[in-house]
Amino acid sequence: MEISYLLNSGFLIRDEKTLLVFDDYEDPAGIVDAAYDKGDFDRLYIFVTHSHFDHFGTHIRAYAQKTNQYIFSSDLKHTKRVKIFPTKKIVYMKHYTEWQDDAIKVWSYDSTDVGTSFLVQTPSGKRVFHAGDFNWWYWDDDTPENIELAEKIFKRQLKRLNKMEADVALFPVDGRLGASQEKGAIEFAAKTNIKSFVAMHRVDYPMWEPSKKFLSIKKDLPIWSPIVPGEKRIFDGERFLEE
Ligand SMILES: [Zn+2]
Repeated sequence: MEISYLLNSGFLIRDEKTLLVFDDYEDPAGIVDAAYDKGDFDRLYIFVTHSHFDHFGTHIRAYAQKTNQYIFSSDLKHTKRVKIFPTKKIVYMKHYTEWQDDAIKVWSYDSTDVGTSFLVQTPSGKRVFHAGDFNWWYWDDDTPENIELAEKIFKRQLKRLNKMEADVALFPVDGRLGASQEKGAIEFAAKTNIKSFVAMHRVDYPMWEPSKKFLSIKKDLPIWSPIVPGEKRIFDGERFLEE
């Protein structure tokens, strides 16, 4: 699988002739444009996990013609921005629902913020998990009540992901959380059966260096923390390779 970083939580993932685009709110390196124009794909699916500005950009409307399906979290339904999209090409997913066509299968999960996270199975049987804004949002300076609540909802949601299998998992490691930036990632990696981990949602922060605690969870878990728009890795099932 080929994974290209767009910005924030935005990625383009290619598995053979299938393209999956996630949370493409901005694509400064023009990655999706280039792939779209090249046209070297059979299927294109565009996912948006929720309506926040840093996840949902309306420029993805320009890809409608060759897009098989826009797969949107149901909270997008109530936004004005969605009105410019061709209704026939949109499927809205609520939490804990499934959708499939003759090529891919999608499961939605709840988030700890607005919207959903997605697990997607490609035609070759590979699985990609994109967390959206699902995370243990541990803000040190928050009230004790809010800190407790954030933990509660994160752990409740995480139970639904128990032993979830994914080849590639994209998950927030948000620099703004400071020392707590890995808290969610550590729990998530411990409870799921993921084969690799991609850190996201850390614009303006340097590359994430996993702590010893994180590294001790799953020995040799391949990790990638993209920073520069357009960065790309190939995941061969065991490692992230640069081209
Ligand atoms: Zn976000």
